[in-house]
Amino acid sequence: MESMINGTAVKIVRGDITRYETDAIVNAANSSLLGGGGVDGAIHRAGGPAILAECHKIRDRQGGCDTGDAVVTTAGRLPAKIVVHTVGPVYRGGQDREEELLKSCYLRSIEEACAAGAQRIAFPNISTGIYGYPKEAAAKAALSAVLDLLRTSTNGNDEVCPQEVAFVCYDEENERIYRQLLEQES
Ligand code: ADP
Repeated sequence: MESMINGTAVKIVRGDITRYETDAIVNAANSSLLGGGGVDGAIHRAGGPAILAECHKIRDRQGGCDTGDAVVTTAGRLPAKIVVHTVGPVYRGGQDREEELLKSCYLRSIEEACAAGAQRIAFPNISTGIYGYPKEAAAKAALSAVLDLLRTSTNGNDEVCPQEVAFVCYDEENERIYRQLLEQES
C-alpha cells in the first residue's frame, strides 16, 4: 500500500528489511551499538562485518548511541547504501517518555539519512519486539511523527527529502495495523 504525502511516497510493505531495496535502512539497535537479536542481528548477519567495524568507531568517538538518537554506518553487503542505527525506548508502561523517544527515533533517523544523501528510507517497527512497545501504540506514534514531519516540510523545490518512507512490517499484525492507520490518514 502506498500514499503520497506532500510529495513523499509513504509505503507499507511486509517482509524482511535486509532485503528491501532502498537507500537507507533503519536498524532497531541498542545503545551499545554492538549488535543484538531481532532485526539488529539480521542486519549485521546480512550486511557483514563492515557494519560492526563502523559501529566500533562510533563507540570510540561518542560512546554509543542514546535512546531516541540515530547514527549512520555503511550498509556493507546489503542492497541499501547506508544503515541508520537508532535506539528505541524499552516500554515500561508508557509513563517514561516512551512515545516522545520513539517519535524521536523516526525523526532523527530521517534527518541523519537525508544529511547522508539518502532519499529513500525504510523502517522496521522499532521497539515492538524485544523492547515490548505495544504494536498499535507504536504504529500510531511512528506514523504521526513521520506524517507530521512530511506535512509541515516546506521544500519549495523538487529536492524533497525523503522521497520515500517505507514501513517494513515483519509480522502480519503490524502490517494490518499500519495499513489501517495509513488508510485513515489518506
Ligand atoms: P526492539 O528491541 O526495538 O524491540 P526487535 O528487533 O526485537 O527490536 O523488534 C523490532 C521489530 O522488528 C519487531 O516488530 C520485529 O518483528 C521486527 N523484525 C525482526 N526481524 C526483522 C527483519 N528481518 N526485517 C524487518 N523487521 C524485523
